[in-house]
Amino acid sequence: MDFASNYTLTIDGAAVDTAERVDVINPATGKAFASAPAAGQAELDLAVAAAKRALPAWKALGWEGRRELLVKAAKAIEPHLDQFAALFVAEQGRPTALAKGEVQMGAWWLKSVARQDLPNEVVEDSDTRQVIVKHEPLGVVAAIVPWNFPFLLAMWKIAPALLAGNTMVLKPSPYTPLCSLKLAELWRDILPAGVYNVISGDDALGPLMTAHPGFAKISFTGSTATGKRVMEAASRDLKRITLELGGNDAAIVLPDVDVAEVAPKLFFGSFYNTAQVCIATKRMYIHDDIYDEMLAAFHRLAKEAVVGDGAQQGVQYGPVQNRAQYDRVRGLIDGARAEGLSLLQGANVPEGDGYFIPITLVDNPPEDAAVVTEEAFGPVLPLLRFSSIEDVVERANNCDYGLAGAVWSKDIDAAVALADRIETGTVWINDNFQNGPHIPFAGAKQSGFGVENGAEGLREFTFPKVIFVPKKPA
Ligand code: NAD
Repeated sequence: MDFASNYTLTIDGAAVDTAERVDVINPATGKAFASAPAAGQAELDLAVAAAKRALPAWKALGWEGRRELLVKAAKAIEPHLDQFAALFVAEQGRPTALAKGEVQMGAWWLKSVARQDLPNEVVEDSDTRQVIVKHEPLGVVAAIVPWNFPFLLAMWKIAPALLAGNTMVLKPSPYTPLCSLKLAELWRDILPAGVYNVISGDDALGPLMTAHPGFAKISFTGSTATGKRVMEAASRDLKRITLELGGNDAAIVLPDVDVAEVAPKLFFGSFYNTAQVCIATKRMYIHDDIYDEMLAAFHRLAKEAVVGDGAQQGVQYGPVQNRAQYDRVRGLIDGARAEGLSLLQGANVPEGDGYFIPITLVDNPPEDAAVVTEEAFGPVLPLLRFSSIEDVVERANNCDYGLAGAVWSKDIDAAVALADRIETGTVWINDNFQNGPHIPFAGAKQSGFGVENGAEGLREFTFPKVIFVPKKPA
């Protein structure tokens, strides 16, 4: 399979092209290096119709039959890891090893979810009847995916939706469509036609999908602002929705930590993938006793960080993924400077048209500064002092988002007690980014609606159908 060209939609198990195309830009150069099809209403209608036709046979395969094909689909990725990784770096910007890691993780995720089950439940078994709850597929699912983890976050939707017996039309972000298009091409010979369709397009395609009456569910990952639009559109015909949205995660660092030991881990939790992670630490609350030492350690790490083209050896942090995000993050940094806040920056970044921004630390800004209240989603991080637990709990929770957070301390009991008070879907202790196919992931407050992963996540691709079975014939 040729990964370097020939990017087509996959509809009904076959390639479909469009007259209009969308340029795909390498964020390390700022230049277009490929183009993807721009699907519109006609291609969307074809994809939904194909997915609908494929439903009965896919459902009839049963859990075991579908499991087998999904494992086969996961294994088909493995011989192409390097090709997927190279394409991933070109469209997304991340360093090669990390890109390969995401593709590997995606294949592993699919295999792991394929082993899951939602067996029938007998909720009543009396002398007269048995009441059985079955988990039925919903129908055709729309999957809408962002650009920051284009491979893995797609898999979080594909794996449970298809396993549960649904069929799918997936739309990647206009910024990162290529790996998704190639994955669908790879699967044309593995999955029955129409079970898995991928359509790329411009900004108009998402709203067309959420308005389409053929979808039973929308599984969306992206910003909170867009999530609200998805919910509104879905309300028109009561489509089911799962929304994984933005976050402004706080890490709380207690005074007993060993600064030299934890600083690199905290830094990684903030800046991995150039800080374009929904569950990155975006507000770093550090106890007064260790604040100066931690700030100095962070500044050292920022200066040592190698920012550059992800395709080059030794690069640790790639560019910001797209121009709009680059302008937003630059705006936050310029705004902080204009407000007179104290900024500490890391090493120089490559010259040219790439979307590079030096890692930027903001030294103890006020709690109402934009750099604290907004989700930066880029390499700028506020470090904030605290001295009382009550104060830091209040500040950490004073936020419309509630995705994740972390507590760092040698005293695990104290950390658990503090974690209990953080109003987010996930809290890590002395760690970050941990999740898994068996672990539910959900945003509290405006960070989400519904659950991905784990049995709860799988269940969201089904509806409970209850059958009353009498013990005596009528
Ligand atoms: P975005 O909301 O701009 O776009 C996400 C997807 O929605 C893209 O495919 C886009 O084309 C599509 N879209 C845009 N407008 C639409 C509309 N009106 N209707 C339907 N679809 C539409 O988000 P983004 O910039 O791609 O991603 C960054 C955001 O995603 C951040 O806020 C980040 O925190 C969040 N995110 C959340 C999670 C999570 O699991 N909670 C994971 C990754 C990213």
